[in-house]
Parts: sequence; structure tokens; C-alpha cells
Amino acid sequence: VTEIWRNARLATMNGGEPYGLIDDGAIAVRGGAIAWVGESTALPADYARDAVVHDCAGRCITPGLIDCHTHVVYAGDRSREFTARLSGSSYAEIARAGGGILATVRATRAASDADLRAQTDARVRDLCACGVTTLEAKSGYGLDRQTELRTLRLARELESRHRLRIRTTYLGLHALEPQWKSAGEYVTYVCDEVLPAVVAERLADAVDAFCEPIAFSPEECERYFERARGLGLPAKIHADQLSRSGGTELGARLRMLSVDHLECAANDDYEALAGTGVVAVLLPGAYYYLRRSKPPSVANLRRLQIPFAVATDCNPGTSPIVSPLLAMNLACTLFGLTPEEALRGFTLNAARALGLAGTLGTLAPGRKADFVIWETEHPDSLAATIGINPGATVIFACRPRAANA
Ligand SMILES: [Zn+2]
Repeated sequence: VTEIWRNARLATMNGGEPYGLIDDGAIAVRGGAIAWVGESTALPADYARDAVVHDCAGRCITPGLIDCHTHVVYAGDRSREFTARLSGSSYAEIARAGGGILATVRATRAASDADLRAQTDARVRDLCACGVTTLEAKSGYGLDRQTELRTLRLARELESRHRLRIRTTYLGLHALEPQWKSAGEYVTYVCDEVLPAVVAERLADAVDAFCEPIAFSPEECERYFERARGLGLPAKIHADQLSRSGGTELGARLRMLSVDHLECAANDDYEALAGTGVVAVLLPGAYYYLRRSKPPSVANLRRLQIPFAVATDCNPGTSPIVSPLLAMNLACTLFGLTPEEALRGFTLNAARALGLAGTLGTLAPGRKADFVIWETEHPDSLAATIGINPGATVIFACRPRAANA
């Protein structure tokens, strides 16, 4: 059976026009995939025969949003760190007082599966209500083998309870617990004990590491990434977020899927990315929440034609955001993106950052029929508000999904 959505303003994210806009457009869907996209008047007659037709009354349709960087699976509450930071405590002081990533690790290990599911589901429901149809979810709050495998299994499972596509990432090098004699010893544990188990259960689609003096060095990260590559897993990296620590250069050299954050990257790092196809992922939520002052260089990204995505970075300590629309707004106001670039960052370029550009991220024949009908006439309005969801009817693989499903 064919379904047609017509009388819609389509932001196809294809072609040379901003948004790839088609003012009076139609989408024909067959078998969960987009079969035809174009102006309503050009729809071939054989699609219309026996089709179920939906009139969109001029509303705007975009591809389903893709949040390509989240830490959505965790337990616990770190709101008191927010209060402490506002009264002047540094990241290091908060960590010494028992806060930071290791606080979430303790809460996640202590939570039952049911608790972890319930806390995660609440966040995923909010993301879905804002139009997310594909979600990347990292581990990294387990650290030990048992809890890392458990969180990755829970992340995979989200697909069975929510109507969305999940891509899981094993964030093996996130933080170092004090019982390890050295970071190198922990990297060896991750490479020999955890990575092979993750691969054996097919629990991850990629690996990630936090490359920063307070976390892991480029050399330690590279040893882990080489091991992952040997096991068939592509890489992403938290790069140059708090200091210029070499992550972007490493990501370019190893041809990773993406390098994420880049707030402290230098001109040379952007030059290294140029022409590699590695996607720069911008995370304005963390920049805002940590009240950072040096944004990534969007001028360099544009000049060197480096594809860039935007993501929520949803996590308990530095970016507790569950709205892709708010992340788009922050990317515009704080980093200087255009609303069109921000939406590209949550569609086509986010698909690239997950290695899915062939199947998701644009409204085009052959792509999965994941799209959002917004209660608005123009896609600029998605990034133009703060904390307002204009209302989204999410079509997932052709079937409508209630906004709160
Ligand atoms: Zn992150």
C-alpha cells in the first residue's frame, strides 16, 4: 500500500537551495521507505491510485531528527554540582568531593535494571516528542566490564520500547577510577577484557573515548582505537573540549566517524580535518551549561567545507538537555550557526556522523520513511524558540507515532 503526505512544505535537506525546500510538496511512501518526493503537482498518477492520502495543510515536514551524541543511559542526579559550580567550585574540586563522572558511575552501578530503564525511558520519551527518530547512546557510566555490558544491552533494548533507531557506542575510555595504578593499566583491561566481550555480543556500533588531560592521552586513546578497529568497530572521540589535547588531530588521522566538541581546537586541527570526511559534532549544550567562553570555529568549518553536526550530548553532569530544538537554538545563538545549518546538523550531517548517510537524514527516494510533520509553516522556526516544541507528528518507518509514545 502507498501512503502519500501532500500539501506540505518539505525541508528535504537535499540539493542546493536552503533546506532543499519544496513549498508545495508531496512524499510517497511504500514499504517503510520513501518512494517519491517532489512538488505535489508532479506526483505520478500511479502513486495516487489506491493510496492513503494525508493532507498536511501547509505544515512543514523535515527528516526525522538524529541525535548523534548522547549519554542517555544513566542513573542518579547531579543537580547539586550545578549549585556548587554556580557558587564557584571548579570541576576538579567537585570531582574531589565525590562528584563528576564517577558519581554517575556509582549511581548507575547501584541502580537495578528496572530503575535504569525507567530513568532512561523518561529522557528518551522527551527526545522522541521533539522529533528524534534515531538516537546514538553511549555507555561509559559503568567502566567495569559487567556494568558497561549491562548499559549497552539496555541501550539496545530501547528500540523495543520506543519507536526509534538506536546506535550504540562503547565509551570505554571515559574516566579513570582511583584503584587503577595507571591509565595504561586500565586501557589494557579495556582492550583485553571489555572490548572483546562487547564485540562478541555485538553490543556496539562504534567506540568512543574522552581525550583530555583529566581523562586519557592521545596515545592511550590510539591504542584503544587500533584495538577496536582490529575488531571491526569504527571510532568517535571527545576531542579538544576543555583543552587543546590532540583529539581532533587523532580523529582526522584515524579517519574516525566524528570528532566531537572541538571548543579548544586550533586552526591546524581544522586543517587536518579538511577533506577527510570526518564529521565535526558541535555540542552547544555543554558549552552553555559549563559557561565556556571559546566556541568552536564555525568559520573554519565553513571555509574548509568540513561537514558539521549538532547534538544534545544529553548527560547528567554537563549537558542535561533532552531537546534537540533547544540544542539547535543554542548552536545558533552561541556558535553562530544559521537555523538551516542547525537542522542540517540534526539530519544529514548527523546521519554522516553515524555512518548512516545512505539510509537516513534527507527526504529522498530510497531513504527510510522517518520524518516529522511540524505544527509550523517554515523550518526556521525549529531553531528560533527556546524550550518550545511547536508540536510534532512523528512518522517512523511510515507508521505515525503519537508524540508521547
Ligand atoms: Zn559526550
